This record gives sequence, structure tokens and C-alpha cells, in this order.
Amino acid sequence: MSVEQDLLARSNEACELCSATENLSALEVAPSDGSTEQSIMVCGTCKEMITDSSKMDANHFRCLNDSMWNSEPAVQVMAYRLLKQLSAEGWPQDLLDMLYLEEDVQVWADALGSDDEDVAVAPTKDSNGVTLEAGDSVTIIKDLEVKGAGFTAKRGTMVKGIHLVPGNSEQIEGRVNGTKIVLLTKFLKKM
Ligand SMILES: [Zn+2]
Repeated sequence: MSVEQDLLARSNEACELCSATENLSALEVAPSDGSTEQSIMVCGTCKEMITDSSKMDANHFRCLNDSMWNSEPAVQVMAYRLLKQLSAEGWPQDLLDMLYLEEDVQVWADALGSDDEDVAVAPTKDSNGVTLEAGDSVTIIKDLEVKGAGFTAKRGTMVKGIHLVPGNSEQIEGRVNGTKIVLLTKFLKKM
């Protein structure tokens, strides 16, 4: 039997991540030898999000809440990597905290290492589309009421040594009036 046929049988002809039954195909979980054990059956939707990070929709992968408990290591590895990639959303991190992988499965899951961390995060840009990096200085281009802190960050205020927010390209963190606050990048201009 081919890998695809093996996977159809193993998965009961459903996506092993979200249980959809449309557009099923095999996906190798890299690094993989192409065997059934190192592949998973996925639907067209899951495959598109996994292979094209611009199509990623975190909510779709709430299905991992169930599928991360699959007994197949390949499914566990894919679930682990997706949850890690989406961890900035909050709930994926909660699931990750519950997910226990056998030692050799964990090694596999981490095998792509640093490549994983670069995925899917759009660059952080200021109001003019200039890329912002950690440590940059910016000015605020609009009076901003800082909720919770009880002051207004005035237009023209300089914020030095900004921090990027992992997984969120719309926000940065910086100190204004000695208080660390989150600022929307659309109200900032790089100095
Ligand atoms: Zn799916």
C-alpha cells in the first residue's frame, strides 16, 4: 500500500488535525523519511495554513485541543509545532503546557530548531511602513490616552529602546513617563 492509502486507513479518512474530510493529502513531518509513521493526513485547509504562513488562522487550530492527544507521534509533533508557532495567542501556550511528548518525539518536534521561530511573523513597521527593530527610538505622532496608567502620551514624545512584541507586528513596548506601555505601531514614527 502507498503512504497515502496507509494514512487514509489510519486516519479513518479524516484530517488528523481538524477532522475535516475534504481535500485530504499526506504531509511529511520534517525531517522525515517519507514513511507513513513520519507523515500525517491533512485536509486542504490545514495544509495551506501549514505550508503558507500568510494563510495562518489561529482559530482554525483550536482543533488541536483534541488532536494533540492523537497517539501518532507525527500528529503530536505537528500539533506541538503549530501550538508553538501560535503561542503568542495565549490559549496555544496553555495547551502546550499540558502536552507531554515522549523524549524521542520531543527531539523530533524540536528538530527544526531556529527555523521555526522565524515563521509567520510579519515585520513590525511604523506608520510610514519603516521596519522597526528592538532598541529603536520612535516618536508618538498622536496624543494617546494610556488606559490603566492614567496619563496621555503626548504627540511628539520620544520613546527610546523599544521592545518588539513576539507574534504581534502591530504593537511594540516602550517606556513613557517611566511606565512600560504597549503602543500601536500605526501611531509611531521611527526616529
Ligand atoms: Zn484539517
